[in-house]
Amino acid sequence: MKTIGVIGGMSWESTASYYKLINQAVNDEKGGLHSAKMIVYSVDFAEIECLQKSEEWGEAALILSQAAQSLEKAGADFIIVATNTMHKVFHEIGESVTIPQLHIADPTGQCLVDKGVTKVGLIGTAFTMEQDFYKQRLNSEFGIEVIVPNGVQRRLVHDVIYDELCVGKISARSKQDFKTIIEDLTAEGAQGVILGCTEIGLLIDNTDTDIPVFDTTAIHAQAAVKEALQNS
Ligand code: GLU
Repeated sequence: MKTIGVIGGMSWESTASYYKLINQAVNDEKGGLHSAKMIVYSVDFAEIECLQKSEEWGEAALILSQAAQSLEKAGADFIIVATNTMHKVFHEIGESVTIPQLHIADPTGQCLVDKGVTKVGLIGTAFTMEQDFYKQRLNSEFGIEVIVPNGVQRRLVHDVIYDELCVGKISARSKQDFKTIIEDLTAEGAQGVILGCTEIGLLIDNTDTDIPVFDTTAIHAQAAVKEALQNS
């Protein structure tokens, strides 16, 4: 079994989900007392969030690259960055190490293709919904049309992520707001919705929506386990 290196803490709420999902998936596969070989490097999210806000992506890339190098030195065979947003600096992190990284959008795009989804709604942070680094990968690599909520709704989703979900607050009001936003995306033709922020799965699941949800945390964790168990 390969050792998974996780760059986490963005936020630790979702890293806890990754930790559990990865161990559960390895155990489902191998049974008995088997669990994952995994090293977690958890950053201080307040530092990262400051740099996001001030658009100092180079500085943020440096912190995550140092985390990646630590994971490589500690024996990780490959790396996952346990947040969608920070895939904005995926290339910079990749250049700092010799081990591979598993991009969160790739297994997500593959899941969409497998389910025959060609037009998808995306909810996540404003960075993920509004910038190109994520949507473009889904479009160019997997031919998927990505639509996002309107400006007011994007602000709401972004604020709920940082003010509530990243600090472990689950609110019935926000759940209803997210359901309405997903209904609007469905009305615009989305055949599925990407939970493109690793905390949204704490609030929304398939039972809340008429269209299938694609939870990037679960998909990324599953893909990491597949990679870790390949040829083992
Ligand atoms: N975990 C979130 C994501 O998947 C948001 C936190 C962050 O900005 O990294 O995008």
